[in-house]
Amino acid sequence: MTATPLILCYHAVSPTFPAPLSVTPTDLERQVTLLLRRGFTGTTFTQALEEPSPRRTLVVTFDDAYRSVLESALPILDRLGVPGTVFAPTDFIGGEGPMTWPGIDQWIGGPHEPELTAMSWAELAELADRGWEVGSHTCSHPRLPEEDDDELVVELSRSKRHCEERLGRECASLAYPYGAYDARVGAATRAAGYRFAATLPSRLDHGGPLEVPRVGVYHRDGMSRYRVKVSPVLRALRSSSAWAVLERGRARATRLRDRP
Ligand SMILES: [Zn+2]
Repeated sequence: MTATPLILCYHAVSPTFPAPLSVTPTDLERQVTLLLRRGFTGTTFTQALEEPSPRRTLVVTFDDAYRSVLESALPILDRLGVPGTVFAPTDFIGGEGPMTWPGIDQWIGGPHEPELTAMSWAELAELADRGWEVGSHTCSHPRLPEEDDDELVVELSRSKRHCEERLGRECASLAYPYGAYDARVGAATRAAGYRFAATLPSRLDHGGPLEVPRVGVYHRDGMSRYRVKVSPVLRALRSSSAWAVLERGRARATRLRDRP
């Protein structure tokens, strides 16, 4: 019997960045430590899926390759003995200036703009040398279901090739930007040669190796919401069909409430 790995999805890690997608180093350390105390062992995304373990397995992933992951998360995870997994949007790696796409653009031009700096290829190589996995997060971070067939091939294949050429290792995994994918995107991901791909759904049921669900951890989670998110009871509920019914009910209630 193998246990379903618990796969967390972080983005930036900073003591001062107030963005919803950033967590403080203190929270990251406390959150990962809690799971290690509960008997989880840390490994990388592909390793966890390729060699499923009967033990409780924890995977800590970081989307977007913010430099703050190198500066703030690496020392913590090193100390805790957990290798991370970074999903890199390859057009921005080593680029001058901030990364930019809808969702983070509001921080450009303000005091927190430097938080949007991506790592360089040399920095990603350093992480890989330390046992971290580097996967693709496409080239330009688009919503893949909105791309046409040709653009999909470029976003998926070119980013994979760049990772492999620059790091000298197989790029086996992908995280869909915004967690957005559909059947056509899944087929293109398979055709591009990825073996595993990460989503970010509300419902945690596994749809196969190219639809691997993760639990997103955000600024406002702190420890109290985080404990609920990683609790076995909630994870089991989010994997069940009952969750879909609850979600539909919640969406309906929101629609009714928001009616003019
Ligand atoms: Zn992203």
